[in-house]
Amino acid sequence: MGKIRKIFVPSYMEKFKCIGSSCEDTCCAGWRITIDRKTHKKYEKINDINLKREFKRNISRNRSNSSELSYSKIKLSKDGMCPFLDETKLCGIQSKLGSSYLSNTCATYPRISNLVDGTIEKSLTLSCPEAARIALLNEEGISFKELEEDYETRNVINNIDFEGKPIKYFWEIRTFSMQIMKSRDYELWERLIILGLFYKKIDELIENNDSNKIVEAIDLYTELIINGDFKKTLARIPSKNTIQMELLKELADEKIFLGVNNEKYWQHFSTFLHGINYTNDDRKEVIGERYKNALEEYYNPLLKKYSYVLENYLVNYMFRTVFPFGRYKTIFENYIMLVVHYSLMKMQLIGIAGYYEENFNLDIVLKFIQSFDKVIEHDNKYLNYVLELLNKNNYTTMGYMSILIKD
Ligand code: SF4
Repeated sequence: MGKIRKIFVPSYMEKFKCIGSSCEDTCCAGWRITIDRKTHKKYEKINDINLKREFKRNISRNRSNSSELSYSKIKLSKDGMCPFLDETKLCGIQSKLGSSYLSNTCATYPRISNLVDGTIEKSLTLSCPEAARIALLNEEGISFKELEEDYETRNVINNIDFEGKPIKYFWEIRTFSMQIMKSRDYELWERLIILGLFYKKIDELIENNDSNKIVEAIDLYTELIINGDFKKTLARIPSKNTIQMELLKELADEKIFLGVNNEKYWQHFSTFLHGINYTNDDRKEVIGERYKNALEEYYNPLLKKYSYVLENYLVNYMFRTVFPFGRYKTIFENYIMLVVHYSLMKMQLIGIAGYYEENFNLDIVLKFIQSFDKVIEHDNKYLNYVLELLNKNNYTTMGYMSILIKD
């Protein structure tokens, strides 16, 4: 090992290893695989006639939105597979030329790297099935640690834009947010609502140039959480299952209209529709009743027993997106998008639970989350559209967020 640097990671990172040809998915299926300029130039210099021909046939320049990182792209086959995969589903470029010939995208996936406060933070995207298994199936919850890595390790580093956010209190807000999300004395929906109320307060303080009161707000919320005062208020929030399902179904449909190039997700989506017998003929209230029934009979028994799975999903999302300082404009907008991820996932899982009934199990949950992540998480166009839609309809309030969150 040459020179080393410190990185900050969830502890599951130490366990992760690509399982290659035993993987039930492949990283690249149904995706846009971009090639950085440096790697593209390396391909142009290859002398092997056969490989040269392969590269020419399967790689095209990215003319519309070219950048250093997405200089060209691999043309996927009709079934959405990478043409360089061999018959054992291993990458042909890596086996013939070595890993130094992999593009940045292929060399780093499923790792996500953010530069935060001078340190590289690395985690995994759950669109990789092996990553989903090791990150979500940890009953103890996700903890974090410092590791060392070789300076030469390839990373595609995202720089976080802190503009307009209270950078001075970054660590206080981030640490407190994680604490709330891991407070198992509270149900997951309760934790999410407390988070939202807290962020509303923080955004208000920022707007009124009162950021110096953020630590005071954290102390107050800590007190309310510890003495159980929140429990009473939260218990009074009504459950509105039909409206929840209607709103979320509309958001999920938008993704279907925009296009889904992932067979597994299609199957899950159709299972969800079957599970609540979603038809255009039935009244929304009738479908809402079936949704409520699937929630209470099949979803809740499993997801309450394994509530750490969804907690781990949220904690991983929060770390990976440097939440709530992520890419959306305000702290509260970052929160809205966390809620959108959680509630879209939950709605579809409820339908899926209704379909499988007593056979609904953890393996199905994991497979759904992985395909959901692959389809939704990497589609910024869709996510931006969702936020726009919510803003346009004035749904970006705590009232609406509670409808989406509450069981
Ligand atoms: S999806 Fe994950 S486990 Fe599967 S081949 Fe890619 S990196 Fe390896």
